[in-house]
Amino acid sequence: MSATWRKQAACRGIDADVFYPVSDDDAGAAKAICSQCAVRETCLEWALANREREGIWGGATERERRRIHRQRRKSA
Ligand code: SF4
Repeated sequence: MSATWRKQAACRGIDADVFYPVSDDDAGAAKAICSQCAVRETCLEWALANREREGIWGGATERERRRIHRQRRKSA
């Protein structure tokens, strides 16, 4: 947790469980926080670059991040 952008994260201090919902249907609370976050895009790109498999990052669930990867591969 050393990257500078993490210091601006809207999720700082919030219970991590919120960001690791059991299913995508329970992702609403985390997504609402991400939508207000100043570093959302940086966070999402970090998660994509690091192939983060679990949790909500940058407002995207794991399934949504997989979709982004697929779309980028197609357009590359
Ligand atoms: S986008 Fe969401 S998960 Fe990422 S730093 Fe912001 S609040 Fe946290």
